[in-house]
Amino acid sequence: MKIITILGARPQFIKAAALSNAIESHNQVDGNNHIEEILVHTGQHFDANMSDVFFEELGIKKPKYNLSISGGNHGEMTGKMLIEVEKVLLEEKPDWVLIYGDTNSTLAGALAASKLHIKVAHVEAGLRSFNMKMPEEVNRILSDNVSSLLFCPTNVAVENLAKEGITKGVCNVGDVMFDVTLHYQNIAKEKVTLDQFDVSENSYILSTVHRAENTDSPERLTNIIKALAKVAETTDVVLPLHPRTRNIIQSQGLEDKLGNIKIIEPISYLEMLRLEMSAQLVLTDSGGVQKEAYFNYAPCVTMRDETEWVETIEIGANELVGADCDAIIAAVKRAQTKDISSLEQVYGDGKASQKIIEALLNY
Ligand code: UDP
Repeated sequence: MKIITILGARPQFIKAAALSNAIESHNQVDGNNHIEEILVHTGQHFDANMSDVFFEELGIKKPKYNLSISGGNHGEMTGKMLIEVEKVLLEEKPDWVLIYGDTNSTLAGALAASKLHIKVAHVEAGLRSFNMKMPEEVNRILSDNVSSLLFCPTNVAVENLAKEGITKGVCNVGDVMFDVTLHYQNIAKEKVTLDQFDVSENSYILSTVHRAENTDSPERLTNIIKALAKVAETTDVVLPLHPRTRNIIQSQGLEDKLGNIKIIEPISYLEMLRLEMSAQLVLTDSGGVQKEAYFNYAPCVTMRDETEWVETIEIGANELVGADCDAIIAAVKRAQTKDISSLEQVYGDGKASQKIIEALLNY
């Protein structure tokens, strides 16, 4: 079986690590059902600390194709990717195209493959925020509609698809990001120290901000920065800053509002995991980081108006606060007194990648 995996953005490298490594292991024990996986990097994220570091650290093999497509408007970026991915698919003639999550790379892979009648497998299918203004929501819905295999992380995702009339090829395999967290937790503890970040166990807040709805709204971004700076007056706030957010902070002249926030460059996955493991709480607008906070028993405060990861809210691991300064500060105080260490894990059993491989082979 030949699979082309399309990736291009940071969260996809992390998700792909689980499956790519599981495919390698599968090939070592089952020579009769060999899977050839070829990686195509669209180039959406290209900085060393947004891309290369994940390939090196998580042992992901080198992409055979590097399309070097980044920037521009959504249509332009997706269109360029569509053109280039189609060329690769015509050349390689894979049995499957594997796509992850909800980025423009996901959609371009889905469209290019389905138009060539190549089967699409979507990992992290069925997630919905029900906010069509999010570019990610458009990418998810369209990708799910052309996929033959839809690997959902939760039952809620399965139900979302059923409501849209999609039931064929849908399976709840659990979350590949949970596989990765479980695999790397001990390694992160061995390789990364909190001293590197000048913080100590359970005494700091880990934050990330990059969602377009926050960065592209001067009002929301200013509110978020004010809230982080206020919290940082009393508790260390570590903020590995996404390049998009850094650029906007600079162009809006918001640097003088950053106060004591410990701003650092984007960090590697192991560094991020280590910080998640010992954080007092996590304050984020990321999709993946909300879940990772919970995987690592850190309460989460999410600076968005809705979330795809509704289970984390329902079980009390996460709280949605939007982008209001006072609401963020109040939610941080509540989260600081929360203990979520006895919550059950609801994102599968850490074997999502194996289940995906079995489903692909049995299709
Ligand atoms: N991440 C990382 N370094 C950072 C920030 C995030 O390795 O400086 C990881 C994080 O642990 C998670 C993934 O990137 O696995 C989440 O990606 P991001 O927040 O960019 O995207 P989203 O999940 O919102 O789509």
